[in-house]
Amino acid sequence: MSEENPCLTCGACCAYFRVSFYWGESNEAPGGIVPAELTEQVHQHLLCMKGTNNHPPRCVALQGEVGKKVSCSIYEHRPTPCREFNVYELDGSPNMRCFKLRGLTPPATIDL
Ligand code: SF4
Ligand code: SF4
Repeated sequence: MSEENPCLTCGACCAYFRVSFYWGESNEAPGGIVPAELTEQVHQHLLCMKGTNNHPPRCVALQGEVGKKVSCSIYEHRPTPCREFNVYELDGSPNMRCFKLRGLTPPATIDL
């Protein structure tokens, strides 16, 4: 497992989607961890990361240059959609939206 995490030189998903989530994830709610000042209201029960509802979107917590070198300034406190969006799904299959954003063809699944 020596391959570097491709997310560190990507960030495409942080500058493409509206990153929205249940308001209870905000640190203004009991048990919430996402910094409220970096969120905005979408509707009564839904927040999004500031900047991701813009056109073009870009999360305010994203640092660096997309496609070169990036990091998430609230990595430990990022909301659920960010935690669930990875290069590979939990079952090991490629996350097609991630590969598409990067202009890549996912590796074929070959069963032995
Ligand atoms: S999950 Fe995919 S699209 Fe998002 S930063 Fe990582 S490599 Fe890029
Ligand atoms: S909170 Fe972090 S991981 Fe989530 S969209 Fe913003 S920069 Fe990306």
